[in-house]
Amino acid sequence: NKSRFGSLHHAHTDISVTAANEAWQIAQAEVLKIFQQTPGTTEATESLRRAHLAIDPVYNMVSEYHHGSMQDLQERLRFAHSVVNWAYLAIFSAILAGLGVLIAMGIVVGRSVLQPIAELQVAARNLAKKDFAHRIKLRNNKDELGQLGRAFNIASAALQRLYRELERRSTYDGLTSVLNRAAFDARLTVEFQSTDRHKWPLSLLMVDIDFFKRVNDSHGHQTGDQVLQVLARLLNESVRPGDVVARYGGEEFVIIFPDTAEASAVAMAERLRKTIEGHSFNSEAGESIAITVSMGCADSKTCAQAYAKTYAMAPEDLVKAADAALYRAKKAGRNKVVSASELLPAAA
Ligand code: GH3
Ligand code: MG
Ligand code: MG
Repeated sequence: NKSRFGSLHHAHTDISVTAANEAWQIAQAEVLKIFQQTPGTTEATESLRRAHLAIDPVYNMVSEYHHGSMQDLQERLRFAHSVVNWAYLAIFSAILAGLGVLIAMGIVVGRSVLQPIAELQVAARNLAKKDFAHRIKLRNNKDELGQLGRAFNIASAALQRLYRELERRSTYDGLTSVLNRAAFDARLTVEFQSTDRHKWPLSLLMVDIDFFKRVNDSHGHQTGDQVLQVLARLLNESVRPGDVVARYGGEEFVIIFPDTAEASAVAMAERLRKTIEGHSFNSEAGESIAITVSMGCADSKTCAQAYAKTYAMAPEDLVKAADAALYRAKKAGRNKVVSASELLPAAA
């Protein structure tokens, strides 16, 4: 028989069974004949021999059949084993393929969803910390997350521009573009603390335009504004890089000279006074206007000397001392530089 399981060696099963059955009938008849003989006779012996001869082929056929069956069984078993092995392999492959698909899906989901969300989180955190310069890296701006990232970047850029503008307006004077009063106060506190810690000298100069009201009255406020702008530029261009020019208010300016003792600051102020005195300012109508300034100068050491007896020195004390010196300069006839040390009782 050729079975659907493949080639089997047990090819003559049916014929063998029929033949064995026939042989068995013959053998049975021969065996029965033994009992018809009288035991011990020659006929009985002959009968026994014939029965033996008749049984032999039966035995052979049965054993051959048995052998064939065993072979058949073994082959079927081998085949069953191989089927089971294939099944295992198929299941294992399916699991592996499933895992592969899951990992691939994880990577795709991670790339397209989780990563952009994590980037959005980082960007939101940076925005909360006022880091408006942070931008989300856009890979795919067609999907919803990509569009969200794009919108976020546009919003960040707008906020960055607004914040810069706000910072600029809250730090610099709108007319002259030097530091405004608030920025000056903050800066002086910082410089003062640094001086206090390191025991470095720090000087402050107050500058007030002489008879500025007359400029406005004679040439108009716009000319007055222009004079303020030019004066601020002159001051800025004349000082060293570390020095800080600010508009204290109206036609008054202040300059912080870090690491500078009063004598150097006064020398600097004197140069500035001469520069301004020699500069030709222009009116709106094109007339040349001469401007002079009065200045009061104070340094941290002089202030410490002046105030040590009554209360601890603060940045306001430096301003107060410079202001007092400025007042003295006005009283002394304007277009002058007066230092706070000149006002000390010991110097008087
Ligand atoms: P003094 O020598 O005593 O300082 O005389 P002064 O005229 O300079 O001082 P006063 O305080 O009497 O007048 C200051 C003037 O500065 C009055 C004000 O109109 C003018 N002023 C203040 N701020 C501005 C400004 O932004 N633009 C213009 N054009 N004028 C200003
Ligand atoms: Mg004034
Ligand atoms: Mg003035």
